Amino acid sequence: MRSLASARDDKKVSLYKIMFDLAIVGAGPAGLTASVYASRYGISNVVIGEAGGLTAKTHEIGNWLGEEKISGFEFAQKAEKHARSYGAQMENTLVKMIKEENGIFILSLDNGKEIQAKTVLLAMGTGHRHLGVPGEKELLGKGVSYCATCDGFFYRNKTVAVIGGGDSAAGAAVYMEDIAEKVYMIYRGNKLRAEDFWIKAIEKNPKIELIFNTNVVGIKGENKIEEIVLDKEYAGSNNLKLNGLFIEIGFNPNTILTEGLGVDLDTEGYIKIDKEGMTSRKGIWAAGDITDGSNKFKQIITSAAEGAIAANSIQKYLKK
Ligand code: NAP
Repeated sequence: MRSLASARDDKKVSLYKIMFDLAIVGAGPAGLTASVYASRYGISNVVIGEAGGLTAKTHEIGNWLGEEKISGFEFAQKAEKHARSYGAQMENTLVKMIKEENGIFILSLDNGKEIQAKTVLLAMGTGHRHLGVPGEKELLGKGVSYCATCDGFFYRNKTVAVIGGGDSAAGAAVYMEDIAEKVYMIYRGNKLRAEDFWIKAIEKNPKIELIFNTNVVGIKGENKIEEIVLDKEYAGSNNLKLNGLFIEIGFNPNTILTEGLGVDLDTEGYIKIDKEGMTSRKGIWAAGDITDGSNKFKQIITSAAEGAIAANSIQKYLKK
């Protein structure tokens, strides 16, 4: 006779070993769009990740057709609801490992579940690039942040600086201008390379002070940030006193999961895909900011498009 414990173990296995046509790793615009398309093709799918991905942390989206202005948080909520409405299963957790056994992919999740799938779509996006200067690690969360939308609230009427010259830094500076008393924007180049929309918003705001041709080489403070060290003098000093520092200098692809998976990466670490979103490994596709696709023009719309193209290709593959 089987023991109660082994009956319970059987139940656990049947609860956690679920077979899907498609497992989507990442719940940003690429992953959720792929899910909507897959569901409409009749492909059973599970999306693993935090809804919206990095997009959820964007303070304002103004270039997604049909939404003149929407917060990243609201966009993420709507996108998740949309995917669920067509039957996607969502797992708000991380994937620890992916392996293949007898032509089936097995995904071990951080919440203890194990998922089986015939195909996999990698849509893990990117993570914040770090500056790599003394004090950065030590003062993270103590004045140093990689996300103005998430942490900006704590700096009401304070002095902050944003590092970077792209769209993220420009968007962060404009966002902080509403909250902080003073916003420095420090850029190593001599001309911002953000969208004209952001540059105009910055130029018309006297609270934002631009410091060009300058790098931050150190961050100082005891239990919280007190000042940053610049590689050249500004207003007579190499040190700039402030209460908060937002490092918005771009992103690196989140490809740790691909180690040992046999998925080719380009020289910058992005997953190489063909025009259908297929990676070099049979049965695995990739979409969104993590790929070398869309001319590396990293936008919500290009991520969503890559997700749709991949789902279309997966549908053809599964039919065969
Ligand atoms: P990005 O376009 O790669 O810009 C990164 C900025 O940080 C650049 O100005 C770069 O300087 C600077 N930088 C990089 N490493 C640095 C370092 N070690 N020290 C100092 N400065 C450094 O990154 P992003 O602004 O995060 O944007 C990423 C992608 O998301 C882009 O495709 C962007 O268009 C998109 N995005 C779009 C929006 C939008 O509103 N449409 C908003 C946010 C992001 P250099 O210029 O000298 O290289």
